[in-house]
Amino acid sequence: MTRNFNFSAGPAMLPTAVIERAREEMLDWNGSGMSVMEMSHRGKEFVSIAEKAEADLREILTIPQNYKVLFLQGGASSQFAMIPLNLLKDKKKADYINTGMWSKKAIAEAKRFCEVSLAGDTSENNFTTVPDQRSLVLDPDAAYVHYTPNETIGGVEFDYVPETGDIPLVADMSSDILSRPIDVSKFGLIYAGAQKNIGPSGLTIVIIREDLIGNPADGIPTMFNYATHADAGSMYNTPPTYNWYVAGLVFEWIKDQGGLSAMAEINRRKAEKLYTAIDNSGFYANPVAENARSWMNIPFTLADPGMDAEFLSGATQRGLLTLKGHRSVGGMRASIYNAMPEEGVDTLISYMQEFEQKNG
Ligand SMILES: *Cc1c(COP(=O)(O)O)cnc(C)c1O
Repeated sequence: MTRNFNFSAGPAMLPTAVIERAREEMLDWNGSGMSVMEMSHRGKEFVSIAEKAEADLREILTIPQNYKVLFLQGGASSQFAMIPLNLLKDKKKADYINTGMWSKKAIAEAKRFCEVSLAGDTSENNFTTVPDQRSLVLDPDAAYVHYTPNETIGGVEFDYVPETGDIPLVADMSSDILSRPIDVSKFGLIYAGAQKNIGPSGLTIVIIREDLIGNPADGIPTMFNYATHADAGSMYNTPPTYNWYVAGLVFEWIKDQGGLSAMAEINRRKAEKLYTAIDNSGFYANPVAENARSWMNIPFTLADPGMDAEFLSGATQRGLLTLKGHRSVGGMRASIYNAMPEEGVDTLISYMQEFEQKNG
C-alpha cells in the first residue's frame, strides 16, 4: 500500500489513522454487527456516535453553551442562501467583506435576498491582501457582517477576527476551521463544508448562536430553516450518517494530537517552511502580502509557466499529487490542511529545490 501526499484543495487528505480506524470498524462497529452505513440514524448506536462527535467538536473549539452545532448537507454553498434567509429578520441589508472567489460567490447569492454593502474589498490589488480593521466600513443597519477568513483559491487568510460590535459576525470557515484555536463567542455563525479540514464531502457544519435562530424569511423552505435542524438535533431528515461518523473520528484524532493549539503550531511550521522555500528561491513566487498568507492553501508560480506541466508530472511521479493551481490563478497550489503530514511538505520542498536546480 502506498499513501501519496495529496495536496488537493478539497476533498482533501484525511489522517491515515482515521481511515485505518474506519476500515477496522467498517463491517462491525463496536460489536453491533453493523456497518455505520447501515445503522438507523435514530438507533442508539448512531445516536451515541453523533453525540460523541458533537461533544468532541464542542470540546476542541470550546463552543459556548448558547451555540447550536448543526450537522447539515448542501455544502457551504447552501449556506450562502441560508444565511440571508435566516439572519436578515426585519432588516434589508447585510455587510460583506470581499477578499476573493469564495466571498464573491457568497455575495452573489446574498444579492438575491438583500442589499449587500461591501465593508471591505481587496479586488483592486487582485485579492493579495486582507483589509485591516480600521479600513472596514460597517453599516449600522446591516443584519450581519459576512467574511471568508481563509480564501481557499487565492491563499489569503485574515490574521485577525473583525470587530463588528453588536452586529453578528458570520464566517465561512470551510478551509480553515480547526486549523488553530478561535474564540467562538466572537461569531454569530460559523459554517464549513467538511471536505477540507473535517471529513468526507457531503457534510456541512454550522455553529450558530441561539438567538439568531427562529426568525426566518416568510415562505422559507423547511429544510432551509435553521430552527428545523436545531429543534431536531440535525435529524429532521436523514443526516449524512457515515460522514458524521468520520468527522467524529477526525475530532478524536485532533484531540490525540493535543487539540487546536498543537495543530496550530504544526500548521504554522508547515506553512512557514514552504513560504520560506518559495521566497528564498529565484524561481518560485507567491504574490500574497506577508500578513495575509494562508496556512492552509499556498499558491505559487514557476518563473516559466511553460514548465508547469513538467513540474506537475515530476511531482506526480514522486507521489506529490494535485498540485495544479486553480484555473483562475494558474501555477500551483499546495493545500496543506491538518491531515497533510509535515513530511509531505518536506518532500514537496525537496522536489521544488531539485526542479529549480535542474531548470532554474
Ligand atoms: C470549498 C469552499 C466552499 C464551497 O464548499 P461546498 O461545500 O463545495 O459548497 C465555500 N467556501 C470556501 C471558503 C471553500 O473553501
